[in-house]
Amino acid sequence: MTMIPFNKPFHTDNEATYAQEALQSGRLSGNNQFARKVQDHLRRKHHLENVFLVPSGTSALEMGAWLAGLGPGDEVILPSYTFSSTANAVVMTGARPVFCEVDPLTLNADPDHMEALVTPHTRMLLPIDYAGIPCETDRICAIAKKNDLLVMVDAAQSYGSYDHGRACGSLGDLATLSFHETKNISCGEGGALVVNRPDWLERANFLQEKGTDRSLVLYGQKTKYHWVEIGSSYLLSDILAGVLLSQLESEDLILELRTRVTAAYRNLYHVYEQKGCVKTAPYDSLTDLNSHAFWVCFDTEANKERFLLGLKAKEVFAYIGYMPLHSSPMGARFGYRAEDLPLTQDIASRTVRLPLYADLGREGLDYALDVMRAELERIYG
Ligand SMILES: *Cc1c(COP(=O)(O)O)cnc(C)c1O
Repeated sequence: MTMIPFNKPFHTDNEATYAQEALQSGRLSGNNQFARKVQDHLRRKHHLENVFLVPSGTSALEMGAWLAGLGPGDEVILPSYTFSSTANAVVMTGARPVFCEVDPLTLNADPDHMEALVTPHTRMLLPIDYAGIPCETDRICAIAKKNDLLVMVDAAQSYGSYDHGRACGSLGDLATLSFHETKNISCGEGGALVVNRPDWLERANFLQEKGTDRSLVLYGQKTKYHWVEIGSSYLLSDILAGVLLSQLESEDLILELRTRVTAAYRNLYHVYEQKGCVKTAPYDSLTDLNSHAFWVCFDTEANKERFLLGLKAKEVFAYIGYMPLHSSPMGARFGYRAEDLPLTQDIASRTVRLPLYADLGREGLDYALDVMRAELERIYG
């Protein structure tokens, strides 16, 4: 029996070499040589401009929330079907999270519901790109424009995906990326804030550097720096930036390997989708995806449970997606009840995410497919 984990980080050739180089350079803090190289790579490869490398996707969201100027009295509309970090960033500034429903086709935020939730207090829309599938950015930005709102996209899962020819991360006023161990490109813990508003760049520098104008000293515009803003230490060590650069240099290979796994899953699940047993993302109408994740929404919660247990018995580890935030203990503190977002509650109870990592295609994919096929036959055959 082969054990198939849910995720396994991919190793690339020069991680140790670059980390060593960073160590030997004596410049281990943020925004040094490897950070510059990572920024150059992102610019050349995906036209991502003004990328601030930060310690995690979580800190990118927090830095973005402060940069957007959120505070008490403000409301931010985000999906309930997301990770806690998306909401925490809002809550930390004193603003209020307002949860919207999921779009059952993509499991991204439902733009119609987002629009319906806009009030005079709304300041920002905060969608995510679940499983690497871009949210409906054009619609969401149009709603924002009409109502004079900001848009921050939590693109933690969508680095390398494209939305109508535009790289995920380049859309919205702000976008956040994650390079956590569980993401396609990883340096263990890491992230980035993409600032798509040139007029916010100076403040972004201050925020990243503990609220000081140290950046002006580095640019030679001042001789001493001062405390000028609220801020924190939103910097990625150059040792990790070195690891990240090596990963990015292999991103085409990583994408190719992951895409192979997605293709095999599509092939298997297509049969059961045709029979009306399960649903997967609308892959036929989607292109340029990063194959971050593959989810399957079962017809009933009971069948989802049977599937998960059956796989676990054969040591194939699939997991549920998100526990909705609105029906979590923190959601209750904001006055939410489970029945407030019935669609999200229902979809979450029936959805699983399959194991997906670059090496799976060479290490056990056939076994995983056999186990899944047998379980699906047992349930639906
Ligand atoms: C992974 C993830 C995060 C958090 O990123 P970290 O780098 O782990 O802090 C935030 N939002 C979403 C949607 C994620 O998938």
